[in-house]
Parts: sequence; C-alpha cells; structure tokens
Amino acid sequence: MNKSIFNTFLIKYAEIGIKGNNRYLFEDALVAHINAAMKTIPGRYLTRKTPGRIYLECSDGRDGGKYDFDAVVEKLKHIFGIVHICPVVVSEDEGEELLREKSVNYWRDMYGDDASYTFKVFCRRGKKSYPLNSMEVAADVGEAVIHAFPNMKVDVHKPDKLLNVEIRDKVYIYSESIPGPGGMPVGTGGKGMLLLSGGIDSPVAGYMISKRGVCLDAVYFNAPPYTSERAKQKVIDLAKIISAYTGPINLHIINFTDIQLAIYEKCPHDELTIIMRRYMMRIAEHLAYENGCQCLVTGESVGQVASQTLHSLVSTNEVCTLPVLRPLIAFDKQDIVEISEKIDTYETSILPYEDCCTIFVAKHPVTHPLVNVIRKHELLLSDVIDDLLAKAYETDEVIEIGK
Ligand code: ATP
Ligand code: MG
Repeated sequence: MNKSIFNTFLIKYAEIGIKGNNRYLFEDALVAHINAAMKTIPGRYLTRKTPGRIYLECSDGRDGGKYDFDAVVEKLKHIFGIVHICPVVVSEDEGEELLREKSVNYWRDMYGDDASYTFKVFCRRGKKSYPLNSMEVAADVGEAVIHAFPNMKVDVHKPDKLLNVEIRDKVYIYSESIPGPGGMPVGTGGKGMLLLSGGIDSPVAGYMISKRGVCLDAVYFNAPPYTSERAKQKVIDLAKIISAYTGPINLHIINFTDIQLAIYEKCPHDELTIIMRRYMMRIAEHLAYENGCQCLVTGESVGQVASQTLHSLVSTNEVCTLPVLRPLIAFDKQDIVEISEKIDTYETSILPYEDCCTIFVAKHPVTHPLVNVIRKHELLLSDVIDDLLAKAYETDEVIEIGK
C-alpha cells in the first residue's frame, strides 16, 4: 500500500448503524474518542461526520509535527466502535472523465503499472444528481482500469481487490480496509468496577466489557507486606495497557491485609478463599456505588479454580446487589491467553509476583461451599469486621491511569 497518497480515513462502524433515534449519541461518542486519541500524536486532525459516515482528515501540524499514517492507524485500532479503517483518496470534482482518471491514478499509486489482480468496482452514489447511476459508474471505471493495466481482470464474485467509488458530497476512492477492534464506543454502555488482579484473566475481562461500551474504574486488593510493591506496580502496568482501549481508569488500591489475617485466624481454612472473595466483592460493590458504577466485573470462568465452581460463584454473588459481569465465564484458559496476547497484557500478567490470594490459600479449598455454612462461619468475624472494613476503606489510594 502506498501510504503517502492518503490524508483521509473513512471510519466504518457497524452496530451503531442500527441504533435508530439514539444513533447520534453513539456517533458523537465515537467522534469524541477519535478526537481525544488524535490529540496524543503529532499532526492536525479534523473529524467530519456525514450521514452514515465518519471521516478523519489528517495533515501536518502548524508546529511542524508530521502526520504519521501508521501512528493514526494504531490509535484507531484501539477505539471500540470502529469496525473498518479505510484510507481514502478524496477529490472535489466528480466529472466522469476525471473520475476515470482519478481511479486509474489511484490504482497506479497503490499497486503500480504491473498490478495483476482480479478486481471489481463497487459504486455507491449518495448524490442522486450525478449523471450516471452506480452500475454505470462501476462499468465505466472498471473499463478504464482494465484499459490502463493489462494484467488486471474483472471477477465480480471473488475479486482480490474491491475498488470502492463513493459519490457523495465529494468523491471517495478506496480499496483497502484495515480491521478495527469492533464493539461499541466506551462510555455509551455505563460504568463498571473491575476487580483487577495481576493475573491473566481480569485484564482480559476488563478489555471485553469495555469493548461493549462500558467505561471502567478498577480495584486491586493488595496485602503488604505479604505482597510486594512490584506486585502492585504490575497491576498498575496492566491497567495502563488496557487503558489504551478502555480510556482512563481510576484504579483503587485497597489494603486487604488485616481482613485476610482476620479470616485466616478465625475461619475454617478450607473456606478461606471463598470468604476472602466475598469480602472483596463487598468492598468492590461499596466502591462501585460511591463511584457511579452499575456493575462489578471479574475475570472468573466456570470451573477454572475451586473458587470458580458454580457453587462458589453462587456464594460470592450472594453478597452483591449489583450485577456481577463475568465476560470470560465460558472461556477456556487458552482462549483467554490468546486475547491477552493480542491486547499485550500477557507478558506482564505472567511476571511471577505473588498475589494476595496465593499467600492465604488452603491446601484443600472447598469446591461446593454451602451459602448458609459460609454465612455462619463469617459470623466468627463479627466483632472485628466492621472496624476492619472501615479501616480498609480509609486505605483507598486512587491512581489515575491513562489521563
Ligand atoms: P486472574 O487471572 O484475573 O487473577 P484468577 O484465575 O487468578 O484470575 P482468582 O484469583 O480466583 O482467579 O480471581 C478471580 C477474580 O477475582 C479475578 O479475575 C479478579 O477479577 C478478582 N480478583 C482476584 N484477586 C484479586 C485482587 N487481588 N484484586 C482485585 N481483584 C481480584
Ligand atoms: Mg488472580
């Protein structure tokens, strides 16, 4: 691809297109995210919204900062809601002669004089006053291309290249499409509190739920001195990596040590993990309410470990009134690993720093906890827990990620 001929991108979105009267809200959110992303790289950018289409016009900045094709594409690939990123050549004048000439020039610039592909021309004619209909434009341009490039052949069923010609307020020519991340613009789907550990699963869970338009805050429970600064830093790093997709995250760090020690001291050891998870959920929910979140998000997946059997999930769910979204619930570990590699969290997630859960684990944790038994054993904490919870909330350290 000859990147130097482009200074405009056509941004295609899919699901937003079926949103009826609310569609503009989704489009406006998408435009806002594109504008915010472009502010972080050199160059000048203008986002233009026309019915059913968003265009991003790029040029070099007044301050001499150069517009960089690859940097723009990289940014757009992280914006949920975008399905395809198409570099387009735009021209003002749509006379038929010029259209043929522009199409041939485009083809030469992109693929050279020896271009040898099968192709098809696809025309969309938004401007109804144009003298030719879309079939006629396609035939006309197709003929010009075949004439100019002897090695090109038409294949209307499975062409190697689709030459798109769109006649709207201007004429747009393009043939390449770079996949975007899909999903819905962040913020159009409410807000969630992600329980973010340093593992593989929870960053992926955050990425996935954010892909559906949910913006995130996150909470990490650490247990110094049993967990180190490096373990905390790893979670901060993971939050930074996913914030390239999710947008800014307020990461709450809660000191969980005293609660864990109390559970360890007073409760049956085979129920440690499940009781600990119930307190994590309670605290996460408290923070969720305080910060305007409508749900909790975890990286749990049925059967992955003892605390993630359905019986255990029933038991952790019981302490929450907000919905607990578990986007990985039916995923195999390998599928989760693949996503974590794709979004670049994997290498950080596997760094071997201890997690608070791994320190206080029982040799034989219950896999089928009974809620009424767990409740009874939690009463063993009743004389200290209110005080410990209040103290834990006081430790809340908020780190602004990606702002
Ligand atoms: P992960 O890879 O996300 O750490 P995991 O397989 O280790 O998950 P668990 O330790 O059982 O699973 O944790 C299940 C979920 O609970 C995690 O996905 C995460 O959402 C939450 N969680 C666990 N530990 C913490 C923690 N220290 N801080 C915040 N959330 C946590
Ligand atoms: Mg974990």
